[in-house]
Amino acid sequence: MLSIFDDAQTRLTSVFQHIDLDNDVRERLRRPSLALTVSIPVRMDDGRLQVFTGYRVQFDDTRGPTKGGIRYHPHVSLDEVTSLSFWMTIKCAIVGLPFGGAKGGITVDPRELSRLELERLSRGYIRAIADVIGKNRDIPAPDVYTNATIMGWMADEYSQIQRQQVPAVITGKPLHLNGSRGREAATGQGALFTLEQWLKTQNKAPESLKLAVQGFGNAGYHFARLAKEMGFQIVGVSDSKGALFCEEGLDPDTLMEHKRTHRELKGEIYCAASVCEQTQKHYQQMTNAELLEADVDILVLAALENQITSDNAANIKAPLILEIANGPVSSAADKILEQRGITVLPDVLANAGGVTVSYFEWVQNRNGFYWEEQEVQERLERIMKKEATAIFDLATERQSSLRTAAYLQGVQRISGAMVEKGTQDYFNNK
Ligand code: GLU
Repeated sequence: MLSIFDDAQTRLTSVFQHIDLDNDVRERLRRPSLALTVSIPVRMDDGRLQVFTGYRVQFDDTRGPTKGGIRYHPHVSLDEVTSLSFWMTIKCAIVGLPFGGAKGGITVDPRELSRLELERLSRGYIRAIADVIGKNRDIPAPDVYTNATIMGWMADEYSQIQRQQVPAVITGKPLHLNGSRGREAATGQGALFTLEQWLKTQNKAPESLKLAVQGFGNAGYHFARLAKEMGFQIVGVSDSKGALFCEEGLDPDTLMEHKRTHRELKGEIYCAASVCEQTQKHYQQMTNAELLEADVDILVLAALENQITSDNAANIKAPLILEIANGPVSSAADKILEQRGITVLPDVLANAGGVTVSYFEWVQNRNGFYWEEQEVQERLERIMKKEATAIFDLATERQSSLRTAAYLQGVQRISGAMVEKGTQDYFNNK
């Protein structure tokens, strides 16, 4: 089986067929510029010392300081973090942010830690990577199972190390600690702007469409909530424990309320309850795998990578897939879906709203001047719709999938920056 990173790289091969790229650029997009593995010793509440493994991978910084979230999950590995850092590089270029790409992670099930253990782990991670991050160098943010509270601890730890306030070193912070308005909902909101723009090209209105959303974390929940407000019918929702389906439609806020009132897990940050515990009689319970194959108009993937692979791609019934998670469809599944005429709105475009509002937060922190929610929304909408339209047009022009067109737009911008920096022509005497 291919590693996640090898699989991520196969996407580049089809992009390279559409573009005349300098060989040096191809080589540089094949490996990260820095891959750091650290050990984080944490004194647990019972007095034991537990040592956790963490990573920070900076893939490429040609277009600016590297940017990307930090993931806490038992399956975090160097392979996964490297792939995520590669996708961040492409993503930032696609939406035209002045950033390269990076990602971090700790191999841990954070739901098993107490709040204080989680804080000690988060601060320990920042102490371990402090030398390679910075507001002009590499700027972390939240990702799977990390949130604003954790970003607040991390920004504080970094500022203590530097002996000065450096809010711009981390984005996705709480509002009280110089976070940006609109950051929490940004990934879901950006995905909805992308979907809206796509449906416009198809002359379709939200009211006629049924959606299933796999994953009910920050991105999945906000997307579902905003999509319902816009008129879409949310007929299926799932989280790590299972899925819920209802032809007449589900209410994301009611499901979230249930999860939020059951925070009995140790850290009080993670919900112990699951959406599938709702027992109203018209709700049908199913597995995550069944939800993916449900008969809906749009399948929204907001969980983890490799959810649709060559094993289940032939069974997907939805004619449109919206990728909010990073890498939820494998490259082998791409081909099967394409042959079956299923359209995929790719992750590197559709989930870029999160990092875009992170960029706004970084700008606000550097200026010391904070924007109203409406300004954040308007700027996000403008960027997402403009870049989405450019990709849709490029796909039509090149007769390619939307994913290939998105990569093409990103790779062209990265390659432009690499070439402008100039060193590769030096030995050719140009
Ligand atoms: N973790 C998010 C992503 O995968 C956001 C990254 C950021 O805001 O820097 O895009």
